[in-house]
Amino acid sequence: MEQSFARVLGAVALMVLVGVPDGPAVSQGCAPRDFLQEPLPAASWQTPWQVAISVAYPEADLQTAPSPRMSYRGAVISVDGPTSRPARQIIETPTIGDQFAILYPLSRNLDLRLAPFYDPGRARSERFFGLLYGETAGAVEQDLETVAAGPARFRVTRRHGVACQLAVAVADLDLGAAEIAPLFRDVGGSYNWRRIAGTDRLSAHSYGIAVDVNAAIGGYWRWSGATEGAVGTYENKVPWALVEAMERRGFIWGGKWHHFDGMHFEYRPELILYSRLMEGAGQ
Ligand SMILES: [Zn+2]
Repeated sequence: MEQSFARVLGAVALMVLVGVPDGPAVSQGCAPRDFLQEPLPAASWQTPWQVAISVAYPEADLQTAPSPRMSYRGAVISVDGPTSRPARQIIETPTIGDQFAILYPLSRNLDLRLAPFYDPGRARSERFFGLLYGETAGAVEQDLETVAAGPARFRVTRRHGVACQLAVAVADLDLGAAEIAPLFRDVGGSYNWRRIAGTDRLSAHSYGIAVDVNAAIGGYWRWSGATEGAVGTYENKVPWALVEAMERRGFIWGGKWHHFDGMHFEYRPELILYSRLMEGAGQ
């Protein structure tokens, strides 16, 4: 009883934090999740990546029989499994299973990213994200709201708890701390329906699931003068306190990518859960 009462109080507090709705008023409370701690299913007939999707997006129904498919808000897509193609091809045309081909490291290890195309999370199936967040700018924009972080205002989707989780990550931070405050000044942006520079692939920003903190601190591989697939060391200036607060709430960080994008955080709880499932399986 006490626990559920605390939860209700937490939900009320977070509705305030989530702040000014961009579209319709906040329709539901916010039940924050801790993706680094919450229990994982002990056993399943699904593959680990299917389990990760099911746990990450409980409102989207993933069925494995007769053939894998996923439904949300009346739409259904088939769920295609992993292929064993080179990472360079996968990033262009990933299946849903391919999104898990490169394990997102939950440690502070930035050596893994030295391998060419080690970009966990950069492969995105447009069918998958279109189902979860909307296939057009108009559809995505119906569910945006604004989350404040110090002077920054991020427009993100409220679907699948994204705005809620971002607000909680921000609340976990000491925004006045000398190492944190500058990250939320001159921020790079949030919702923006656009293609990734130099490609015809939709950016994660199109779905309202990504935020860019201060670009000058974060850095971006294209500005380093490197060529694709041959990006060298990343001189990280983003504090781990921010990275880990965001990961806890389901956001992966682009600083762990070969094609580093150190300002970029993106809501991909399925990748964080999958890394935990695979860590467990390897022990
Ligand atoms: Zn970004």
